[in-house]
Amino acid sequence: MTPVSAEAGSIDASHVHALPQADAPLEKIALETYVPPAKPSLIGLSRGEIVEQLGRIGVAPAQRKMRSQQLWHWMYVRGAREFQEMSSISKDMRVELEKHFTVARPEVVAEQISNDGTRKWLLRLPSGTEGEKAHEVECVYIPETDRGTLCVSSQVGCTLTCSFCHTGTQRLVRNLTPGEIVGQIMVARDRLNDWADRETPNGNRLVTNVVMMGMGEPLYNFDAVRDALLIVSDNEGIGISRRRITLSTSGVVPNIFRTGDEIGVMLAISLHAVRDELRNELVPINKKYPLAELLQACRDYPGASNARRITFEYVMLKGVNDSLEDAKLLVKMLKGIHAKINLIPFNPWPGTKYECSDWDQIEKFSEYVFNAGYSSPVRTPRGRDILAACGQLKSETEKLSARERAALRAMAMTD
Ligand code: SAH
Ligand code: SF4
Repeated sequence: MTPVSAEAGSIDASHVHALPQADAPLEKIALETYVPPAKPSLIGLSRGEIVEQLGRIGVAPAQRKMRSQQLWHWMYVRGAREFQEMSSISKDMRVELEKHFTVARPEVVAEQISNDGTRKWLLRLPSGTEGEKAHEVECVYIPETDRGTLCVSSQVGCTLTCSFCHTGTQRLVRNLTPGEIVGQIMVARDRLNDWADRETPNGNRLVTNVVMMGMGEPLYNFDAVRDALLIVSDNEGIGISRRRITLSTSGVVPNIFRTGDEIGVMLAISLHAVRDELRNELVPINKKYPLAELLQACRDYPGASNARRITFEYVMLKGVNDSLEDAKLLVKMLKGIHAKINLIPFNPWPGTKYECSDWDQIEKFSEYVFNAGYSSPVRTPRGRDILAACGQLKSETEKLSARERAALRAMAMTD
């Protein structure tokens, strides 16, 4: 499919309907064009686009750059939610801005806090089509001792159909706009009281890292993800360094080089299998971009080095991809790539045919990989009680029945 771009004034996105699953398609098809609201939010526009918008409402050319810098600071350093808060901007100007724009972020419709401190927000986004229900996405905050990671979504649902992923079963898909992606970080900072003037007593920020590992395939929404991450990493604004941002892809090979070249963030690859035959089944985009091409793209990734390793994610599926033979092939395959391996215990969902590998098998696999010289942490599942763990995100757009939810929670908590 064509990645959808979002430009100021003509925000364009798509949503998709799944086809019948008899011969499961690689990708679902985009159907919808999204029309932006009459009074658009300035969140998600580049500095240049803000200058353009100021010109459109009649701000004098000599003032535009200075005003855009003030706006940038208020939006992205101070987290202002209204123009009225922006006290360094003249009152008349604030009134004028208010007439034409907002600094709105996605609406939070629910917040859940896990007993391990993980927080999940359900966000509502306009559908853009009259009569069509609003879309929803999820965004998850994972506090750890030395960092706080925000897991951000790039699409409502996902056009791909990985067989072990709950998001992949979702029927509707729409690309998020840059504002909706940046907006997730802003919502987290709002809810956690994590803006510059509301810092925690020791001055540490709570959201220190971002992972593009929520719903969706970020490299199938490349332009919007790039524009958003350039804003997130801007050091006069939100200021999260590129080394603290990781983009995870199932392997959209043509956009991997562009990720390093145009965004410069850390890369994670959803590998999950070391043979094409099995990967075709688990991560069907492998039929389009098989392992050899994927690994070559990793070798060519701009900026990869010993200090900036590529993460290979590997979900542990009992009896499917978790043998020592697989571990050996994995080590062999990654030779010559600056790599680290992240083993993810499978998180179950209702109707899945997979089970998580037994713990001692995960340990054996991890030990083999570790002894071969790779760091191989096992990702601790977080927020399972609120269905916030990897692969459990699925928006309310397609509501699970109460019974399904209870079953899912029970599965997640007991295995
Ligand atoms: N679409 C992107 C990013 C989002 S998914 C990608 O596929 O890389 C983030 C990670 O969670 C991916 O590695 C994905 O394969 C993994 N994942 C998906 N479903 C999972 C599940 N049920 N249990 C564990 N990990 C899962
Ligand atoms: Fe999409 Fe990633 Fe899930 Fe695959 S694993 S269906 S690419 S979200």
